[in-house]
Amino acid sequence: MSAPEAGSKTERDAAGATLAAEAARFAGLGWMRGTSGNLSVVLGREPLRLAVTASGLDKGELAHDDLVVVDGMGTPIDAEASTPPRRPSAEAGLHARVVALTGAGAVFHVHTVSAVLAGKRWPDGIELRDLEMLKGIGHAAHDETVVIPVIANSQDMTELGDRLEAALVEGVPAVVVASHGLYVWGKDARQARHHVEIVEWLLSYRIAEG
Ligand SMILES: [Zn+2]
Repeated sequence: MSAPEAGSKTERDAAGATLAAEAARFAGLGWMRGTSGNLSVVLGREPLRLAVTASGLDKGELAHDDLVVVDGMGTPIDAEASTPPRRPSAEAGLHARVVALTGAGAVFHVHTVSAVLAGKRWPDGIELRDLEMLKGIGHAAHDETVVIPVIANSQDMTELGDRLEAALVEGVPAVVVASHGLYVWGKDARQARHHVEIVEWLLSYRIAEG
């Protein structure tokens, strides 16, 4: 059986189901309170097509068509495909930029307390070392310092994207946005979810450690 064509209805529905399941999980953990945060998965790369959770909806209650497909600029290309039409988050453009920069297959953005606290305490980057959990984001459990970068918040997605690009650390699939939350990515939705869980654990630990 061949894979569905990028952007086909079958693939769109499958992506929507994945996004809804992942969002419900994060909402259950308290990481997507209210309508906050947004998740995306790549549907195609040339040209870039990204399925992004729709804006303004309770992330614990998304249905399989509560998504928008956007292009490499975060501009919706199929807003009318759902009934009623859905809107993408303003942050969709940043998801697309992360994909272009890192080759990620999924980008997850959540608003966690740990990310905000850590970004405030260590605005120049959050240093971590000698923790078994670092293996979960592809690093050594011993004798390696891993830095999760922190960037200043902005409502201008181009500016925020420029900051993210400048701050990226090779091999670290996460950036903290100060006073805001966390962007994490992976090769697919499953790995992105694992990375969110690991990074959140690392930030919580680091804060508790002081
Ligand atoms: Zn946000």
